[in-house]
Amino acid sequence: MKQRTLRERVKPHLAALEPYQPGKPIEELERELGIEGSIKLASNENPLGPSPRAVAAVERAAAGVHRYPDGASFALRAALSERLEVAPGQLVFGCGSDELLELVAKAFVGPGDEVVYAWPSFAMYPIVTQGMGGTPVPVPLDDALVHDLPALAAAITDRTQVVIVCNPNNPTGTSVGAEAFDRFVEALPEDLLLVVDEAYVEYARRPDFPDALAWVERRPATLVMRTFSKIYGLAGLRVGYGVAGAELAGYLERGRHPFNLNLLAEAGALAALEDGEFVERSQRLNAEGAELLTRQLEALGCEVWPTDTNFLLTRVGAGAFEALQQQGVIVRPMGGFGLPEHIRVTIGTPEENERLIKALRTWRESR
Ligand SMILES: *Cc1c(COP(=O)(O)O)cnc(C)c1O
Repeated sequence: MKQRTLRERVKPHLAALEPYQPGKPIEELERELGIEGSIKLASNENPLGPSPRAVAAVERAAAGVHRYPDGASFALRAALSERLEVAPGQLVFGCGSDELLELVAKAFVGPGDEVVYAWPSFAMYPIVTQGMGGTPVPVPLDDALVHDLPALAAAITDRTQVVIVCNPNNPTGTSVGAEAFDRFVEALPEDLLLVVDEAYVEYARRPDFPDALAWVERRPATLVMRTFSKIYGLAGLRVGYGVAGAELAGYLERGRHPFNLNLLAEAGALAALEDGEFVERSQRLNAEGAELLTRQLEALGCEVWPTDTNFLLTRVGAGAFEALQQQGVIVRPMGGFGLPEHIRVTIGTPEENERLIKALRTWRESR
């Protein structure tokens, strides 16, 4: 029998995949650079930390981790179903909303299938598509770095299996309004899977922000994805959820590991959901930070894009990422998106925001 190498055996589309590049842990980076006391404004985490009620719930639940978790996430499902006014069966939980994207690809994407999404946007869209052998179809944002919905619609072909709208969009912070969104969805083929990634929806401030959940009722081939990683401050627990038509939810459920949401994660998410005060405090801090940072960045002559999220895209000049990092301020470089003069900065606490501005000023004055 002829021996085949691993390289010959691995699925070609998987071998060709460019893996997701997460930011380095802060400790590792400090060791490499020989610095300390740095701040991380790179991953859109909540600067207030987790909700104290979530932490207490996780601590209480820890004594029970010899048990398997509730595979149906009954308590969290019931709470969210009441909150969002959807049937319990319309909810699908994931190990972060990242896993929901994988469940979508697993259920709907194979070789020859196309997935249409805007670009620059969330790096996981091409990764999950290629992971299942599908073809990513990135559609450039418009000149204002906003989703070009007519162009997205025009990219849909007979081979399109999924269209994704990230609203508000990561890494630009920009959003589309209800009128444009509704017009776009109305014109979509009825049974084409529409995924609306609303990871930052709780931060959105524009008054005409689209009601994507309402579309789930009117158009069952719609999945709205949300997460506990951002405003709820639980990125390390890994809880995301999707709201979909019941039939679609059932297909996604079939691909889900029975215990994908661990016991601590469910307990923490449930407590965070009920801590409305923490969410409001996070919203307030973020809105104030966004306004102040925008003003200060603009005063430094940096272009800033309007944001409906907890981060800002700003054009500060090439080399900013490294210069800030040397001063212990870690942000996200945008060179990989073809924006070498831009950085994405998470809106932090007032002290963190001040350090960012100071470091930027120091760098610019030294040039
Ligand atoms: C952070 C983020 C997610 C999901 O993160 P999880 O931690 O996996 O829930 C999804 N989409 C976008 C656009 C994000 O920025």
